[in-house]
Amino acid sequence: MNERTPHVVAALDDLTAARDALPGPVGVVMTMGALHEGHATLVRQARKENASVVVTIFVNPLQFGDGEDLDNYPRTLDADLAILAREGADLVFTPSEKLLYPDGDALIRVSAGTLGSTLEGAHRPGHFDGMLTVVNKLMNLTRPDVAYYGQKDAQQLLLIKRMVADLNMATTVTAVPTVRDDDGLALSSRNTYLSADERRTALCLSRALRAGESVVTQGADAVREAAHKILAAEPGFRPDYLALVSPNTFEHVPSEYQGEALLAIAGHVGTTRLIDNMPLTVGA
Ligand code: AMP
Repeated sequence: MNERTPHVVAALDDLTAARDALPGPVGVVMTMGALHEGHATLVRQARKENASVVVTIFVNPLQFGDGEDLDNYPRTLDADLAILAREGADLVFTPSEKLLYPDGDALIRVSAGTLGSTLEGAHRPGHFDGMLTVVNKLMNLTRPDVAYYGQKDAQQLLLIKRMVADLNMATTVTAVPTVRDDDGLALSSRNTYLSADERRTALCLSRALRAGESVVTQGADAVREAAHKILAAEPGFRPDYLALVSPNTFEHVPSEYQGEALLAIAGHVGTTRLIDNMPLTVGA
């Protein structure tokens, strides 16, 4: 592979000049850093499908709630840049908080509406407004032809698709399937918080999803029950929710439902909050 260090910019003028010079189409991958193979997979797909690849690294304070891990969130810029060099990113944007929120806070924000207050949104008030606000800003700054997001954050992905459609933004949103470790654990920057014991406990999320998947032909209630049984047998896991929802509305599906659905789980292992999900087809 032809590895070369990407151009790293932190100032607006530098970003604008570097972005203007890139041949299109331009693919953009937005991250909070602490990159792993999941992020690398998004970059690889962007590399395959575009003439130029931009990656943003920004830990967005607006999407963290009180008592969440903003201050402890892993920051590993040198290792991140090594991964991005390996994956052939052209341009990396690493704005400061001051640059994106010069007034210290954002007066004008994007509202995620009702879709932002269910499931993840119910447990993380304001999270999705903060996420959409920074995604909107980063899209305006990097002007992607195609922007790539992971299925791992399914509700985020749906909300970004809705924002792009509802606000008539000139970007195509591409979803990338969840990347997992060999044992099934979905890759996450937050996995670095887990002790060896906690990591074993965390496997109950993917095990519960697979248990649900194994009974899809028996209907929605069977899926919920099979997944619930796995989680209930794991005393180290404190669930926030286990939900089988419509992938387009994130509303719970009724017992008689047949068709595309999303089985989603969130909860705590020790002090670490984890989420995972699996798209399923329920019914015969
Ligand atoms: P984050 O740095 O956690 O904000 O994630 C940046 C992007 O990478 C988001 O679009 C995530 O959905 C995506 N991502 C994170 N983990 C994974 C994973 N295990 N598989 C696929 N995409 C992921």
